[in-house]
This record gives sequence, structure tokens and C-alpha cells, in this order.
Amino acid sequence: MNGDRGNSSRCERKRAPLRYAGTTVAYVDCMNMPAPDISRSPTRAASTLPGFRLGRISGVELVADFSLLFIVILIAFNLALAVLPAWHPGWPPALRWGVALLAALMFIASIAAHELAHALVAKHYKLPVRRITLFLFGGIAHLEREPDSPRAEFWTAIVGPLLSIAIGVVSVMLGGLLVGDMARLENEPMNAIQHASPLATILLWLGPINVMLGLFNMVPGFPLDGGRVLRAALWWITKDLRKATRIASFTGQVFAWFLMGFGVLMMLGRSVPFFGTGFAAGLWLILIGWFLNNAARASYQQLMIRQTFADVPLRDVMRSNVISVPPNLTVSDLVRDYIVGNDQRSFPVVQDGVLLGQVHPDDLRDLPRIHWNDTPVSRIMVPANRLRVMKPEDDAMDALQELAEQDPIPVVDHSHLVGIARRDDLMRWLAWNSQRTSPRPA
Ligand SMILES: [Zn+2]
Repeated sequence: MNGDRGNSSRCERKRAPLRYAGTTVAYVDCMNMPAPDISRSPTRAASTLPGFRLGRISGVELVADFSLLFIVILIAFNLALAVLPAWHPGWPPALRWGVALLAALMFIASIAAHELAHALVAKHYKLPVRRITLFLFGGIAHLEREPDSPRAEFWTAIVGPLLSIAIGVVSVMLGGLLVGDMARLENEPMNAIQHASPLATILLWLGPINVMLGLFNMVPGFPLDGGRVLRAALWWITKDLRKATRIASFTGQVFAWFLMGFGVLMMLGRSVPFFGTGFAAGLWLILIGWFLNNAARASYQQLMIRQTFADVPLRDVMRSNVISVPPNLTVSDLVRDYIVGNDQRSFPVVQDGVLLGQVHPDDLRDLPRIHWNDTPVSRIMVPANRLRVMKPEDDAMDALQELAEQDPIPVVDHSHLVGIARRDDLMRWLAWNSQRTSPRPA
């Protein structure tokens, strides 16, 4: 063929990983993270989950945050308008777009598989996983609590990157088989890819991305998987979970600052090894770095909270002088006498001490004002059977986690309301008690 082509493919070969990566290689995934605030509605009934449910796999709920849609579109556009035209100049636009969309969906599926691997190993170690959320920056497997041992932590964390790397290697090998000439793929990748079928093209794009996803997440900074592996090792050596978390969280923050620094350099047109260059890619790294920095700090705080709340029953932290309302109270009276001029936002609906439901100002949004006078709160409340309720002897830490889904939570003893748990109250208790119980700086 001609020399130009040969030259550019040699150059291409050196830069191939960067080109493959586009802007997506820096994809994080975190376990047991505070859920992203994106699209989280004002917390109400348990039935309103953010995002949309994709399904349920061996007891784990798979949820896609709405921000995931943005990523699918971004990857599809990047493939259809930049990567595929270079790889397959002869392909008609419809084929490019079809392949781009399919590849983007397979990328999301491989992230889901990564998270599912975490979830299944966690389950093996008796760590309940409530659900997996896929969102803008990657995936989160929500563990209900921290692992009990360094061994559980280690295996739960490392299985995700291992699976990503395995998916990547298998994809590249299958793609190579389909192309039929592994040697040419290695020596002249651009030339080989130009003759690849749509399926082989997808596999050859997906493979390196998954390998890099695995490697990126093995960076030893909490809350990335590698940070968890580091924490497991430190925990095993020092036998001190708090110290291990502090160190892993610190390295996570350092890494996050590096990412943000790289991002700035890339936005200024410099090239950074592994991440490449470009304004958009740089901006993406800054966002990821910012997210990871917050996450690393939050993870350590979460552990502090956990230790302060250890073995504290909900009874000690709940609000017991609760303003409740009778079921036959009209909505107009509710607004006039309760909602206005009161710092309690939700009101338990109670008859003879028994909890019937809970009413929140949001519940009357759909009710036309002319019906306020003749509608009782029992008609608009969230009924008790659809509410999360807890018992006074339940764990305060569990309550804090549940409060992310619904705030406040009625506390009920034999179906009688004895108090409500509110996030604000718990945080106030925490601020007061963490000051008293840890006189030495951490
Ligand atoms: Zn992971």
C-alpha cells in the first residue's frame, strides 16, 4: 500500500489505547458510597425510587440513574462521529449509528457485570447488597454494611476489576478471531480493523476499554476498588479499620487531586500519559476527580459516623414529642395549623395512637385548591403499609441509612407511634456526641 498509511498506523498503534479510550476510560465504580444526589427526589414514600429499574438479578435490584442516559448518548456520539468514521470510512451512517449504540449499551452492560461481580461475592460473605445503581460516573453496588473482615473486603473489591479485565481480554481475543489475523491486528491495527465486521469492531472497541476500566479502578485510592484492596491489606496488617480507612481515603484524595491536575493540563492542550489530551476529556477528568475527592472524604466520615453510632438504639436519637394529625383533618386545616410555621415537614397520621400513614406537603401538590376544604388527610397521605417504619430498639446507624430513602421515618412499637427519626436530629446528635467521645484529633 502506501507509505503514509503505514506511518500513520504505526503512530496509531502507539496511541491506540488513548484513542480507544475516548473520554470514557476514567470510569469509576464505588461500593457502599453515599448515593449520587443527581435526580434524587425529595424523599418521600419508599415506592419512589430514583431512576428506572432495569431488573433484578439473583436478588439484586439493578437501577439506572437518569444521568446514565447522558453517558450512553455521549459514547454513541463519540463512536458514530469520531471513532467509526476513522475505522470504517466506507460504512453508511445507519450502520455506524447502529454499531455505536449497540457498543454503548454493551459498555453499560459490562459495567453492570462488574458491579454484579462485587454484589455476588459480597453475598457470598453474607454482606447484603440491596441494589446496583448505574449513573453518570460509573456504578455503585450498595452494600448494606461494611465487610466484617479484611478477607471479605479484599475479595469483594478485587473481583470487579478482575472481571472487567477478563471481559476485556476475551473481547479482544474474540475480535481477533473474527478478524482472523491476530498478527496483522497487532502490527497494523488500523489496517486490520478496517476489514473487521461490525461485531468484531464492537469487540475490539469494548475489549481495551474494559481492560482500562479494570486498571483504572485498581488505583489504590479509596473508594475505588484498588483503594478497598489497599484498605483490606492495611486493615489486615494494623488490625485497625479506622486507621486503614484514613490512609486509604487519604491516598484516594491525593489521586483525585492528580486527576484534576491532569484534567487541567489536558484542557490546556497538554498530553497526559494514559489519558491523552483534549478539552472535553480534561473536563471529564476534573469532574471525576472532584467526584472521587468528595467520595474519599465521605467514606471516612461515614466510618466515623458508623463508629459513633455503634450500638446506639434508635430510641436514644429519635424525636419523641411528635406533632401528629388525625386522619379526618381537612387539608386546608393541615396547611393552616400544621405545615405553615412548623419545622416538622412530615406529619404522622395517627388515630388512637396507631400509625395510619404520613403526610408531606408534596402529597397535596396534585390536589386542586378548591378541594382542600373537603378532603381529609387520610385521602392524600402515604398509607402506613407503604412507609418504611422502624422500631425503637433498631440501630441508629440503620436508621441513618434508611433516612436517605425516606425522611422522616416513623418509629413504631406494636403499631403505636412512639417517635420519628429525622436526619437533622440524628446529625445534631452525632455532632454533639462525636465531640464528646473523641477528645483527641483523629
Ligand atoms: Zn468495582
